[in-house]
Order: sequence, then C-alpha cells, then structure tokens
Amino acid sequence: MTPLRIILWDIDGTLLHSGGAGERAIVLATQALYGEEIPLQELDYRGRTDSLIVRQIFSRLNIPWSEENVTRYKECYLRHLAEEISRSSGATYRGVEPLLSTIQRMPDWCQGLLTGNFEGGAKIKLEHFGLGHFFSFGTFGDQSDCRNELARSALQLVRKRWGEALSPRQLFLIGDTPHDILCAKAIGAYSVAVATGGYSLSELAAFRPTMLLPDLEQFEPVLALVKGRW
Ligand SMILES: [Mg+2]
Repeated sequence: MTPLRIILWDIDGTLLHSGGAGERAIVLATQALYGEEIPLQELDYRGRTDSLIVRQIFSRLNIPWSEENVTRYKECYLRHLAEEISRSSGATYRGVEPLLSTIQRMPDWCQGLLTGNFEGGAKIKLEHFGLGHFFSFGTFGDQSDCRNELARSALQLVRKRWGEALSPRQLFLIGDTPHDILCAKAIGAYSVAVATGGYSLSELAAFRPTMLLPDLEQFEPVLALVKGRW
C-alpha cells in the first residue's frame, strides 16, 4: 500500500498575500476597541500566530489577557478583515492554484492548513481567493501562541484521523518564514520554504529547509520530494 502523504500549508506569504488587509484589520480593530494607533512595524508578526500578535498588542497597551478581551478583539478583527479583504488588492501567488489542484488529484495525498491565522481569519482569506474548497482540516492560531505547538497539534490531529502509526516523515510543510521551517523540524517533518512572503532565499537557507524555492511557479520539485521521501 502506498503510504499517505500529507501536505500542510501556511497561508500568508505562501498561498496568498492579502494586500495589507490583515495588517489594516489589526490597526482598525485596535483603534475601534482601545482608541490607540498600533505601530505595526514595531510588532514581530511575520510567521507569528494571531494569538501572539494579539498578546503583543495587549502587552503594549496594558490590556489584561482574559478570554473575554481576546474574544472581543478577535470578533472585531474578523469584522474588519472581512471588510478590508473585500477591497484589497491581494492575490494568490503564481503556481499555487495549479499545485493545489495537482495535489488534490493525487491518490493518497491530502492537504490541510497549518497557519497562525485565527480559524475565522483563515476562512475569510481563503474564501475570498476561492481556495477554501482545497482544505478539509487544519490547525489554527487560536490554539496557541507558539507555531511549534501548532505543528505538534497538527501531528496529533492527522494521527487521530489516519492512525497513530503515521510518521512525521509523511508530513510536508510549505511556508514562507523561518518559523515555518523550524516548526517542521520540531516535529520531524519535511519543509518546503518559498521566498514569496518577504524573506529572501538566503535568509531562508540559513534555517536549512528540506527544499527551498523562489516561488511555486515551477512546482515539479515539490511533487518529486513528496513522492520520493517519507
Ligand atoms: Mg506565512
């Protein structure tokens, strides 16, 4: 029997860019709730989970970290995100849709999400760009501040679904930041790093991903990697 292969995707900088809609929604939600201008460039947000971004904002503004405050912030952010994305100039990256479609047609290959986005935010972004139907499961930024923790949850999730014998060597994580590479290493999975999200090839190379590509336009190497190794 051919072993199952599972491809887990990051969203921002890997599948798509939201044309700044995500960043604008953070700024607008913070203004609407707390009347404060948040200097986004001072936050460390690329490759970070939404929960960690909210934690950074709360700590900067001295807002207590409580479930109530987080829920209120999340709801406000998601409202702004839906509005901002509808007028965004974002797009999916070249090669992404053909690769998603190719993976979808492969027997014994499955694809899901491993993203720092809140689940609601992921849904808004993917549906806006018509990618929602490619993913039937995922691990999202609501669950943890820490991306390595999300990768561990993803491994648990796929084992629950496909059996405890599933090896992390059957998992391939595609992402655009060092955090994506490191979280794949944290669980012993393969990593494909793409330089579409703002990190350069040499910056990403320093973290030694399994495969490094400028973008997904020529995606045959990804298919060869997934076919040939587990
Ligand atoms: Mg990303």
